[in-house]
Amino acid sequence: MHARIARICTSFIDAPGKIAVAIYFAGCSIRCKGCQNAALWDPQVGTLMTIEDVVEKIKNHPLAQAVVFLGGEPTDQMDFLIHLSQKIREQEIKEIVLYTGREFEVLPKPLLDCLSLIVCGPYRIELHVQGWPASANQRIFKKEAGRWQC
Ligand code: SF4
Repeated sequence: MHARIARICTSFIDAPGKIAVAIYFAGCSIRCKGCQNAALWDPQVGTLMTIEDVVEKIKNHPLAQAVVFLGGEPTDQMDFLIHLSQKIREQEIKEIVLYTGREFEVLPKPLLDCLSLIVCGPYRIELHVQGWPASANQRIFKKEAGRWQC
C-alpha cells in the first residue's frame, strides 16, 4: 500500500504542548478558498511512500511525543491513513492528531479508534479568526477516557 506524501518534518505547534512528527499528505480534493497550503493540492507534488517508509521516518524523530497528519487532505488517501494510524499505535507514540477539511461525523470508526485529537471542517475565509483553528466553523475533538469530546 502506498500514499503520496509531500514532506515529513518536526513540528512544535501542531500537537499542542508536544513535539511532533508532522506528516504532510499530498493532494486535496476539498480546495477551500484561501487555503494556506494550496501548494499541496496537487497529489503529484508528493513522493510515493509505503507505510513502512513512513514508520521508518517517524523513528528518525526519537524525541517526538506525537504524530500529526495534515496536508493537503490526509483523508483523501483513507485506506493508507487508517493502516498507517494502526501501525503507529503499535509503536511507542500513542498521540495521533489529524487535521482534516472533512467533518468529524464522516470519519470512519477504524480511524477514530486510533486518533486522540482531531481538528476538522473546511477552512472558510469569511470565518477566519486569529488563533487556532483558523476559521470559526472548524471544530476540535479530543478523546478523553476513550470518549470523544468537542
Ligand atoms: S481541506 Fe485543508 S488543505 Fe484542503 S483546501 Fe481546505 S484548508 Fe487547504
